[in-house]
Amino acid sequence: DRRLSRIASTIRVIHDFPKPGIKFQDITTLLLDPEAFRHTIDMFVERYKDKKISVVAGVEARGFIFGPPISLAIGAKFVPLRKPKKLPGEVIAEEYSLEYGTGIMEMHVGAVHPGERALVIDDLVATGGTLAAAIRLLERVGAEVVECACVIELPELKGRERLNGKPVFVLIEAD
Ligand code: 5GP
Repeated sequence: DRRLSRIASTIRVIHDFPKPGIKFQDITTLLLDPEAFRHTIDMFVERYKDKKISVVAGVEARGFIFGPPISLAIGAKFVPLRKPKKLPGEVIAEEYSLEYGTGIMEMHVGAVHPGERALVIDDLVATGGTLAAAIRLLERVGAEVVECACVIELPELKGRERLNGKPVFVLIEAD
């Protein structure tokens, strides 16, 4: 697909960020190319527009960039999944493991209702711990997570194996 090569060509790799040995996939350079950014959103919208999704849940912070344009285009609500102590209302929280220590993800109570069909959006799946926490939050309130979608996957880290068979759709595989 011509669009996928355009998207892939705009993602910048920064070595030794945020720590030595890490090859960081930088999507801010994708955002500098409006054609690549539009293709990215279009490809997700084409996949999800007829799947009766009522909730797009975006993971802080880069899921806040890709999630809202997708939610508007498919006529779904957008729900932010945030780091602790950022959401002002009552929340439910899930802990998940990071490379060092643990992270916490929160969602507003009342934002998502039982039986809703949800799509989880983030920029990148690595070990899958972040997406797994997002799925748990949505399932705790009775939503059905139809799929997770990311721009980039690091397949070597086998993140899919942590998601109990929940499908993950990605545009680009990085090495
Ligand atoms: P996981 O929980 O799958 O190990 O890590 C995925 C999370 O870490 C995502 O929220 C993603 O934004 C962030 N992340 C990890 N590595 C990278 C990277 O190389 N580039 C970007 N843009 N995000 C990353």
